[in-house]
Amino acid sequence: MTQHFINGRHVAGRSGETMAVLAPATGEEFTRIACGTAEDIDDAVKAARAAYEGAWGRLTAAERGRLIAKLGLKVLDHFDELAKIEAQDTGKPMAQARADIDATARYFEFYGGAADKVHGHIIPFLNGYNVNVIHEPHGVTGHILPWNYPAQMFGRSLTAALAMGNAVVLKPAEEACQTALRLAVLASEVGFPDGAINIVTGRGHEAGAALSAHHGVDFMSFTGSPEVGRMVQHACAEHLIPCTLELGGKSPQIVFDDADFDVAVPIVCKAIVQNTGQTCSAGSRVLVQSHVYDEFMGAVAKEFTKLRAGTPEMDLDCGPVINARQRGRVQSFVDQAREAGIPVIAEGAIAQGVPNGGFYVTPTLFGKVPRGNRLEQEEVFGPVLAAFPFSDEADAIKLANSTEYGLVAAVWTRDGGRQQRVAKKVRAGQVFINGYGAGGGIELPFGGTGKSGHGREKGFAALEEFAVTKTIVHKHG
Ligand code: NAD
Repeated sequence: MTQHFINGRHVAGRSGETMAVLAPATGEEFTRIACGTAEDIDDAVKAARAAYEGAWGRLTAAERGRLIAKLGLKVLDHFDELAKIEAQDTGKPMAQARADIDATARYFEFYGGAADKVHGHIIPFLNGYNVNVIHEPHGVTGHILPWNYPAQMFGRSLTAALAMGNAVVLKPAEEACQTALRLAVLASEVGFPDGAINIVTGRGHEAGAALSAHHGVDFMSFTGSPEVGRMVQHACAEHLIPCTLELGGKSPQIVFDDADFDVAVPIVCKAIVQNTGQTCSAGSRVLVQSHVYDEFMGAVAKEFTKLRAGTPEMDLDCGPVINARQRGRVQSFVDQAREAGIPVIAEGAIAQGVPNGGFYVTPTLFGKVPRGNRLEQEEVFGPVLAAFPFSDEADAIKLANSTEYGLVAAVWTRDGGRQQRVAKKVRAGQVFINGYGAGGGIELPFGGTGKSGHGREKGFAALEEFAVTKTIVHKHG
């Protein structure tokens, strides 16, 4: 049983209500969390405000950076423990959980080092004036996060806000919040002042809605589905605060006839099965030039057939998906595509011996998927890859930009001119050339356009989001 973490302490929550958390690998309850209410959110926001106006707000940027860096070292000290918690909570294979904790530590290292490097500038203005542009924290930032990469999301979203000097309130996903709670305790142990980091667990429509509507919050950072993102943005509009939305994707991998197939094939497979396809930036569409389609997809199919889903300890290509609802969602896409007669090019398998109650799905590769089909337009958030042929460069760009999303894309070609043309024309916040994903990409600005959201996280770009720019005009004569 876990509690909220408010003002440096575990607290039970005002309502006393709790909810079960199931281990996705077994489907069995392994703990309960407190169900946060508007009153708990209010307590957390007040604690954050007090920290911002008190001990946390008084720290210099260098002091904040040192604390954040110390938390990174603490994460490395607790590496195995955190990886096990993350694997139990999300069901992900241990290798993925370890990679996630490594990336989490990297966020603390990066933003610890970056905290005192957000410099302002001077603008040459009229004679007799000195104009300084400086960057200040918003104050209290609210963070609502999903269940797919809970520890990494803590590192990505909260740490950039903290580096800028904001005090934070987090509402993690109800399905997986154990690493966030642990990280908050580790932060206290390395010396973060009480109230700098607050966590209220519980349901989205209660605790999450209360956080995004709270008038004591100065900025909201939301990562999750477009449907909830819309609600959060509406709530922010009511009290006229800015927000970043990191939403979903339907990211294309565009493979031209001159691509290095040996390099591309395993990466195309990995980009859809990593984290069991529950990655906003999953490469969920593969677009292949028509006259090499059969050859390329034949090689992908060979790899895909080898894919296995199993428990965290089995440490295979995929784990289970997060819950029964998500398994039903993935299955409905697969069933509908089969019923529509879309060919299954290849299937992986669920490993023998997985617990009966676990939420396992079979990795599935469909192609050729008709244009306009659900598999082209909608995010599955599972290990389901959709393949499409295209004729030429113009057709590839049209197909790549055919969805409302715009998060990540990859272009596979040896032609330097085409690499640049396609990278510039494709609608996405990040484009990879002859590669995909970048080991967490802590340093790289990340975010979407259109239905994938707006605002940027990661890198120095996140620090700008979590800051207010102030121009000080001094007439000195
Ligand atoms: P979700 O939108 O259902 O939930 C995300 C968070 O919002 C959870 O903490 C949830 O409790 C909360 N929430 C739910 N209802 C709310 C409400 N009415 N008001 C405020 N908060 C509320 O998403 P999910 O199912 O947890 O995650 C899957 C989605 O997240 C996918 O669409 C995926 O693409 C997206 N995602 C995006 C990124 C990114 O960086 N772009 C990263 C991870 C996941």
